[in-house]
Amino acid sequence: MANRTLFLTNELYKYMISSSVREPDILRQLRRETSHDQMSAMQISPEQGQFMAFLLKLQKATKAIEIGVYTGYSSLCIALALPPDGKLVACDINKEWTSVAQRYWEKAGVSKKIDLHLAPGIETLNHLISNGNANTYDFIFIDADKKNYDIYYERAINLLRPGGIIVIDNVFWLGKVTDHKIIDDETNAIQRLNKKLHNDERIDLSMIPVGDGLTLAMKR
Ligand code: SAH
Ligand code: CA
Repeated sequence: MANRTLFLTNELYKYMISSSVREPDILRQLRRETSHDQMSAMQISPEQGQFMAFLLKLQKATKAIEIGVYTGYSSLCIALALPPDGKLVACDINKEWTSVAQRYWEKAGVSKKIDLHLAPGIETLNHLISNGNANTYDFIFIDADKKNYDIYYERAINLLRPGGIIVIDNVFWLGKVTDHKIIDDETNAIQRLNKKLHNDERIDLSMIPVGDGLTLAMKR
């Protein structure tokens, strides 16, 4: 009955959440604690976390990277979806926020799976490449500073194995991407990347209306 994605009314959104989200207690606690922070809107939603966990399991992922940890909601979703011998490289520059993340990783019993790199994301990705990790990662989540999205994407393509996926957050940028007159570095960076990926033959592509827009790119 619908040959386009439905508009999600509040009612339908609530229905989707109440009939599908299975948020573990530890994630709910972290969401509650983070809700007091001024920047809490940066956190991914429970349905997005659950979707990403689904992808990781579908892939049988063991090696993952996250760029942009904040207080750890998405990293916890990723780590919980990895097998006991799985590893997540978590990149961020903010000590205060990631100390909350570390507390929850510990509480959830997944801190052994996570290596936190407190450094600019590009530096960490460059190190991984020069240390022989190119073509080895299964899953890379890009959710840090938007101006560097294109560099993160290029490094991610390098680090992924064929069949590995890059998940890029905020590709709608609260709808600002549709405004072609807008001049602001972050919006323009996301617009450029969205356009580039549309024609990028190195990947299979899907942009999905979860949260603030999510791009899935699978390396060919
Ligand atoms: N994925 C998180 C939200 C990330 S918010 C969640 O779901 O909760 C964006 C994060 O990117 C912030 O924590 C910020 O400190 C981090 N960040 C900003 N610039 C960065 C950089 N150059 N390198 C790495 N991380 C950066
Ligand atoms: Ca985000």
